[in-house]
Amino acid sequence: MKHNLGIDLGGTNARAAVVDAEGRIVARAKSVLTDRSPAAVVDAVAAAAASALSMAGNVKVDACGVGVAAQLDAEGAVVLVAPNLGWFDVPFAALLSRKMERTVRLINDLNVAVFGELKAGAGKGVRDLFVCFVGSGVGGALIVDGQLVSGARGVAGEFGHVKVQPGGRKCGCGELGCLEAYAGGHNLIAQMREVVEAGRSPRLLELAQGRVENLNPALLEQAALEKDPAALEIYDRAANHLALAIANQITVLNPARLILGGGVLNHCAGMQQRIRQSVEQYTARVARNGLVIAEASLGDDSGLIGAALLADL
Ligand SMILES: [Zn+2]
Repeated sequence: MKHNLGIDLGGTNARAAVVDAEGRIVARAKSVLTDRSPAAVVDAVAAAAASALSMAGNVKVDACGVGVAAQLDAEGAVVLVAPNLGWFDVPFAALLSRKMERTVRLINDLNVAVFGELKAGAGKGVRDLFVCFVGSGVGGALIVDGQLVSGARGVAGEFGHVKVQPGGRKCGCGELGCLEAYAGGHNLIAQMREVVEAGRSPRLLELAQGRVENLNPALLEQAALEKDPAALEIYDRAANHLALAIANQITVLNPARLILGGGVLNHCAGMQQRIRQSVEQYTARVARNGLVIAEASLGDDSGLIGAALLADL
């Protein structure tokens, strides 16, 4: 059977796996990123990949896909902005490809996770499906009658960039008022930072042990549940925008299943619960009947599996 190499490059570690064509992980390895310079990250990724390949034994590996929390150029070659790594305009595919002596394709972390879940996780075998992942950004995918909808120019399912507030917050894509600008993990942290730096949430700063670098969505949820006004405002707005946008997709598409996943929803149980309830409330009744809302089933492996499966598609 054909095998590919999947890599999940996060802000703190790089994971690599040899994955078969059915999306099963054959071998895996991990490197901790102690230095986030591109050269050091190339070495760390290559080391994890070499370990996974050696554990997989004599398996022949074709392509290599790398999921990275970043905005990428259209060819999947250059990291334009990667907030977790502090990178701007890094030609990472070329650097890694030279080191590993194989072709490398970079893919957005959410897209790989969504694809992994579709092919090998909670979406496997479902013909009408909507997937929403809330991680560092917000991603989505539509499967209609068994086909992944790609659209006229291949960009269908850019769910993070549906507008929820005309003229609103600036999004990483450069436009204003996108869903991701309010609800993506990176933007949740940016909004937390804004209220902390304006002195509007002493509680958030306390939860972050006095350091804005420690702010994360789980702390936002905690402060919101404690009714901290500034945290609650960010949290409520994100949850409402997400729920309404998801519900509207469901009303239009009438999928059999909605899959919710991604780091923010995995680590904020209250947010996930709230979205489930609000989706039921906001979806038109005819589309709500029979809808199954499921959690992503591959957990942290969805990105590794998706990166491998997408590497040569
Ligand atoms: Zn956007």
